[in-house]
Amino acid sequence: MRSFTFSCELPNGVHARPAGHVETLCNQYLSNIEWQNERTGLSGNAKSVLSLIGTDTLLGDTCMITIDGEDEETALEALQSFITNEFPHCDSPLEKTQANEEQQPLPRNLSNLTKSAIRATSVSSGVGRGVVVKVGAINFDQLPYLPEIRALEEEKSELKSGLAQLSKTIEVQANTSVDTESEVLAAHLSILKDESFAQQLNTNLVEGRSCAQAVVATAKHYAEQLQKSSSQYLRERELDIRDVCFQLLQTIYGDEHYTSQLALTEPSICMAEDLTPSQFLELDKALLKGLVLTHGGSTSHTVILARSFGIPTVVGMKDGVLEASIGQEVYLDANLGAIVTDLKEPVVRYYEQENRIISTVRERQAAFKDTQGMTHDGKKLEVAANIAHSVEAKSAFESGAEAIGLFRTEMLYMDRKSAPKEDELYNIFCQALDAASGRAIIVRTIDIGGDKPVDYLNIPKENNPFLGYRAVRIYEEFIDLFKTQLRAILRASAHGPLKIMIPMISSMEEILWVKDILAEVRQELRKEQVPFDEKIPLGIMMEVPSVAFIIDQCCEEVDFFSIGSNDLTQYLMAVDRDNAKVTKHYNSLNPAFLRTLDHVVNEVHRHGKWIGLCGELGAKGSVLPLLVGLGLDEISMSAPSIAATKERISKLDSRECRQLLNKAMQCRTPLEVEHLLAQFRLAQTEAPLISEDCIKLDLDLRSKEEVIKTLADNLFLTGRCRYPNKLADDLWAREDVFSTGLGFGFAIPHTKSEHIEQSAVSVCRLAKPIQWGDEEAQFVIMLTLNKHAAGDQHMKIFSKLARKIMHAEFRDALFNAQSSSEIEQKLMTELEL
Ligand code: PEP
Ligand code: MG
Repeated sequence: MRSFTFSCELPNGVHARPAGHVETLCNQYLSNIEWQNERTGLSGNAKSVLSLIGTDTLLGDTCMITIDGEDEETALEALQSFITNEFPHCDSPLEKTQANEEQQPLPRNLSNLTKSAIRATSVSSGVGRGVVVKVGAINFDQLPYLPEIRALEEEKSELKSGLAQLSKTIEVQANTSVDTESEVLAAHLSILKDESFAQQLNTNLVEGRSCAQAVVATAKHYAEQLQKSSSQYLRERELDIRDVCFQLLQTIYGDEHYTSQLALTEPSICMAEDLTPSQFLELDKALLKGLVLTHGGSTSHTVILARSFGIPTVVGMKDGVLEASIGQEVYLDANLGAIVTDLKEPVVRYYEQENRIISTVRERQAAFKDTQGMTHDGKKLEVAANIAHSVEAKSAFESGAEAIGLFRTEMLYMDRKSAPKEDELYNIFCQALDAASGRAIIVRTIDIGGDKPVDYLNIPKENNPFLGYRAVRIYEEFIDLFKTQLRAILRASAHGPLKIMIPMISSMEEILWVKDILAEVRQELRKEQVPFDEKIPLGIMMEVPSVAFIIDQCCEEVDFFSIGSNDLTQYLMAVDRDNAKVTKHYNSLNPAFLRTLDHVVNEVHRHGKWIGLCGELGAKGSVLPLLVGLGLDEISMSAPSIAATKERISKLDSRECRQLLNKAMQCRTPLEVEHLLAQFRLAQTEAPLISEDCIKLDLDLRSKEEVIKTLADNLFLTGRCRYPNKLADDLWAREDVFSTGLGFGFAIPHTKSEHIEQSAVSVCRLAKPIQWGDEEAQFVIMLTLNKHAAGDQHMKIFSKLARKIMHAEFRDALFNAQSSSEIEQKLMTELEL
């Protein structure tokens, strides 16, 4: 018997994913392997994920692994090396949600209208309206059907075929589903195949229980074990076990005995103590408008699924608070983390306005979906998408992508036990080409290593992974992997325009070596008479600075380049892109970085070649003028930013952008560049203080809240303000001190706020007067001045307006104006703007 002790370094403890790695490794040996946690005193079978999870191992726990059996020596060696080198890195950080952040108060425009908002933690954004429906949790103490016990052998065979059948069903489901859903199904499959799960079921049978009783006892056993865990993440895994056990009962005894009764009949907000992933999948998504979970946390599989289906979801609501609303309609506002139970008219009108804004923004951006990226003066700049799997391609093109500028293929190799085979890759590339309908796709060969580990390649831990064994540098050792990928890309290139791009190139030798290998693979395919695109372009990532200095020579060898601004910044500035301590040095606005980009783009174009940019910088609206100034051929980004980027490009002038870049390159610090960009933005969007698009005539608005919301939202839509709720709150802060009704039917709400980027005078003439503090108002003139705007401009306009309003002629002219332009003219002259 051999053993060793170590301390657990995983931030989230041993949950399913790291436990899966341990299980896989231990199952390669015949010896019994036990994992004992000293803190909890719990021990478990290291060949079983469930058993490992059951040890409740958290960060910092001291654990002992004991190995007993004929191959204990080799197992010990492998395990010790695994625990030291790989185990600490075999988990990725959990998704951060609002759960950990402090909850913001509701915006005043809403909180003034209702006191019936119940707060909860938002875990999936959006707003939904529906009837509250309670979805029962599976209660193993009150099962409707528990058959009599039969002979042990009969029960055993029933269980065996039930397990096999359910595994098959889930496997089929997993093969036909994508993304999150398939990951959840894979997790369920691993529970079904878990050694300790099978053992528990079996022990329960042998102890004299029926199959159904054994399933129930097993579910309870794990529930008890996991609920004791000090980690919320581990407690949330209990739901998955309950889910699998209930499905097992359904499989063995039929749905008629174990119905889940989840049929929705109208738009619904489903409330549940907790909901298993399968229960969630069963709900009709057309009718499911929101989810309220009492116990669910931000990382449960159900919540992860809700996010991927875009269902607004909140968690952590206190027990019983929503019971009184069952059967009633409510709004679930997961943007604000609130359930609004009183659907009085003002609340309904508030949400109708919210929905109008959301649709207006969507429609406006939709107008750019099918357009080419082009500046105001007609210079083209292709806007493409970054994807990591072919299933993203369809929605990327639907979001307006003109091409795929970066297909990060390493994701296809991660989180699995072995590398994908050639056919699997070929099918994935064909699937992406199918979605592209003739548009180009740049496939980047694997960029494994650095921050993207792949366990089965067993690349040892390094001190400086970003400067180490990464991307093209590993291809020689894993030549079959590289060649397989090239073969798959080449084969798929027969079906549409694919391009090959190599990451992390830093020298000419690497380019030449890659070209040789590519030539070999092409020759092989020719020999096998497999068709491919003989002219398939080969490009490289421009992300290691050395390439910038041999870019002329590179142009002779490759067809195109794409700037990896994430890595180029880190390598040029010598700042680790993941190290929080040095983030202030990680700045792509550094003039040194801008000069490098300019040099590279000029050289590439001088040689008649093509160059794009695919790092995070591409989606940064504030930096876009500099990228336009560079004269890039393409920028590639994540799909949701595409339409907004095209809209921004359409407002820019390429010549002005070039001048801006020239100035930026002369700056001495990134801060100077930032100021330059801020000035440019102001000058670009320089909107007059008063303009027709901020004047709304004869609106049917019924309260001060509605007026302030409508005008603040309008400033958002006209691009003058980014956070309308915050601007409105600033206006309310002033109203709290004194109401701004001036008599004669006029009100002048006003603020000097950091939340307005372009100062504005907004006007709203109402169809009917409304109450404004102690006064009535029908004509509202709202002043929102930028906090940094000149001196006391805001008070000057206010007092001038107040004086003018004393005059009947001024008031009548505004009340009787036939159009917004008449009002605009009148205010401009009278206020001398
Ligand atoms: C980059 O470095 O900018 C890039 C796009 O590649 P990755 O982020 O995948 O390293
Ligand atoms: Mg990179």
